[in-house]
Amino acid sequence: MTEVYHAGSATALDDSLVYDLHSHSRASDGLLEPAALVERAARAGVDCLALTDHDTTAGIEAAEAEARRQGLRLLPGVEISVTWHGQLLHILGLAIDPATAVLQAGLADLRERRLRRAEAMARRLERAGLEDALAGAARQAEGSAIIGRAHFARELVEQGLVRDIQAAFRRYLRRGKPGYAACEWAGLDEVIGWIRAAGGVAVIAHPARYRLSRQRLRQLCTDFRELGGRGIEVVSGSHATNDEIRSLAVLARDFGLLASQGSDFHDPALSWTALGRLPRMPLGLDPVWRLWEAPAAGRRQAV
Ligand code: AMP
Ligand code: MN
Ligand code: MN
Ligand code: MN
Repeated sequence: MTEVYHAGSATALDDSLVYDLHSHSRASDGLLEPAALVERAARAGVDCLALTDHDTTAGIEAAEAEARRQGLRLLPGVEISVTWHGQLLHILGLAIDPATAVLQAGLADLRERRLRRAEAMARRLERAGLEDALAGAARQAEGSAIIGRAHFARELVEQGLVRDIQAAFRRYLRRGKPGYAACEWAGLDEVIGWIRAAGGVAVIAHPARYRLSRQRLRQLCTDFRELGGRGIEVVSGSHATNDEIRSLAVLARDFGLLASQGSDFHDPALSWTALGRLPRMPLGLDPVWRLWEAPAAGRRQAV
């Protein structure tokens, strides 16, 4: 496993391309079918889109087919649920080969855990007044390979227990709320291993969302690097304040992590996650897309 490109190496990149390296389709908890997502991204001016559904790659084939029609570059990806020292984390695998057995076995196990968690959530939510909770969430998740909190959130809205998705999370689905059920996800070491086995690049998703102390976040970056992780989302649709971006840029530089950016798009109705609409990446960072946008002559698979 050779590392070909190094921080600071002079690779000419086309700065005018629009990268959105984090998005969801109906294959997980997004609202659009994979093809519709790709079509929307193309219309929004995205040149390179990563489809990163939660714990599944089921949408990639359809997304790739539409991307060919639209002339958009589709990067196969996944967003994997991790438990790190009791903390839930999301790790993105970018430019993965979905046909990798060890990756698929790991994702299948996570989907099983999701099902068991959904049963526990449903029992709790029924006590809190949601009728036929599991069947309802399963209906919301129709066509999806996973069942997640977003599906319960939609059912809570549909049955009129809350006005919108935000309120569903705030009142029922966050940790400590009546519908919350804990779940032990995969280990950070395992997940980075699966992503690397699939030829992909592991990226810490939306680091500011975890509300970790500075010290804990730095510990995460240390562990992540040691285990073979390569990138960090500096610009994310789910944390786009300038302060957050600045402090994540410092983290990326300090730990030699490649900088990624993505909208984390799920739903056209949630306006802060518009596809391709992201604040500018701070200068002086090493963008993760350098790994696959290098001149053809030097092109290698990222490890
Ligand atoms: P899960 O992986 O099933 O535990 O669900 C996590 C997902 O729930 C995230 O990826 C988001 O799609 C969604 N989510 C979490 N918090 C919120 C929120 N406050 N508002 C809307 N969606 C949320
Ligand atoms: Mn989601
Ligand atoms: Mn996430
Ligand atoms: Mn996401």
